[in-house]
Amino acid sequence: MDIKSLDLKELKEYMTQLSYPAYRAAQLYEWMHVKMCSGFGEMTNLPKDMRQKLSETEDFTHLTIAAKQVSAEDGTIKYLFSLGDGNYVESVFMRYHHGNSVCISSQVGCRMGCRFCASTLDGLTRNLTASEMLDQIYRISVDTGERVSNVVVMGTGEPFDNFDNFIRFERLITDENGLNISVRNITVSTCGIVPRIYELADKQLQLTLAISLHAPTDEKRRLLMPIANKYSLAEIIGACKYYVNKTGRRITFEYSLVKGQNDTNECISELSSLLKGLNCHINLIPVNPIKERDYERSTKEAVLNFKNKLEKNGFNVTIRRELGGDIDGACGQLRKRYM
Ligand code: SAH
Repeated sequence: MDIKSLDLKELKEYMTQLSYPAYRAAQLYEWMHVKMCSGFGEMTNLPKDMRQKLSETEDFTHLTIAAKQVSAEDGTIKYLFSLGDGNYVESVFMRYHHGNSVCISSQVGCRMGCRFCASTLDGLTRNLTASEMLDQIYRISVDTGERVSNVVVMGTGEPFDNFDNFIRFERLITDENGLNISVRNITVSTCGIVPRIYELADKQLQLTLAISLHAPTDEKRRLLMPIANKYSLAEIIGACKYYVNKTGRRITFEYSLVKGQNDTNECISELSSLLKGLNCHINLIPVNPIKERDYERSTKEAVLNFKNKLEKNGFNVTIRRELGGDIDGACGQLRKRYM
């Protein structure tokens, strides 16, 4: 049993099944999700024979730090974690004025194939379990000794391609008996898997939903993102409107700027008509070039032009502040190099 992926109710039922008193579940849960301990051996208020037995029969997810890079510029820390089966994922710890933020991975690799992204070059290896998503945050909290208040699911992987585990993760990380991170401080980013946007909307969680848009028309988007062959922008925008209506939350659109490809004035007017009237925020990300592809980032002038004109058209726009530029800041690059 992947015991760290169970919620408290399930854990109580499971402990009862194993003929332990139900209160043991609460103790176990606290060790795992509040004290963030690294194994049954540390759970000193549990009887020794119980700890022994659990360690023989249960799976206790525990990620280990395989590599770590600390930015000399801004203190951002990039972690490479090794999973129990020899796979690796990466996560990033960032300090902002509003609190500490961790960016986690949701899969080992990715099968979405976005052309500019390093995480998808070798395809998908497997999904992460809920406990493997949680433990990225737990290990970083323990390693830094600092409270994590924001989580962004924007590392390697497509969270909506691992939807059930993502939802389980979300429930556990926001649980008041666990780390109790505010649901409003969690952002999940998707390349736009339309049925899952509706499914998430129906759960009416106060999550921040980020959509990786990256182009203003289907034709232009297909050149960058294969998923655009499956779902049209009209379908994505329809799902976003539904999400806003159901949750009252503003949508974030991510737009990675690639020189000469999606940063033109034509793109600005197309994007403005596409998003007109939608309660949203546009986050511009100058693309991080990866060596396997020849995409170049937009010039500073093009980025500012893009921002200014969108603002003139009434949109709320930010340029992603880049942290950890000196430590393989770009998606999936540390893992790729290491493997
Ligand atoms: N699969 C999810 C989340 C992971 S990627 C998604 O597609 O949203 C997080 C964001 O980084 C996405 O917007 C993604 O398109 C973007 N991204 C990936 N590689 C990038 C690169 N090299 N430069 C700039 N943005 C990149």
